[in-house]
Amino acid sequence: MSVCQSCGACCATFRVDFHPVELAGGAFAWGAGVPLEMTVPVTANIVRMAGTDAAAPRCVALAGEIGQQVSCTIYDSRPSPCREFDTEHAACNRARQRCGLAPL
Ligand code: SF4
Ligand code: SF4
Repeated sequence: MSVCQSCGACCATFRVDFHPVELAGGAFAWGAGVPLEMTVPVTANIVRMAGTDAAAPRCVALAGEIGQQVSCTIYDSRPSPCREFDTEHAACNRARQRCGLAPL
């Protein structure tokens, strides 16, 4: 199991915004695209993963328990910000700290 599969902190910390072309049926969808019903509209050019701007953020697509075992239920279709984020990113440890996890 990768460190991310026992973490999930970034999916429960940051807003996840992307262009609607990555939605299911969109011109630049990854895989099957992000299901529209998992998003909220922000502007004409931005949609947001539902739950990621809540007071206690948690992406609606995340399954499992933070810091234990998690998975993205739309992994093959996840949007660009999720594809670009990994443990090399400085914000990784910020997210982990926010969720009470030790830095990597
Ligand atoms: S916060 Fe870092 S370690 Fe945790 S899931 Fe995100 S990239 Fe992986
Ligand atoms: S779409 Fe998947 S990888 Fe992206 S924030 Fe949500 S659960 Fe995490």
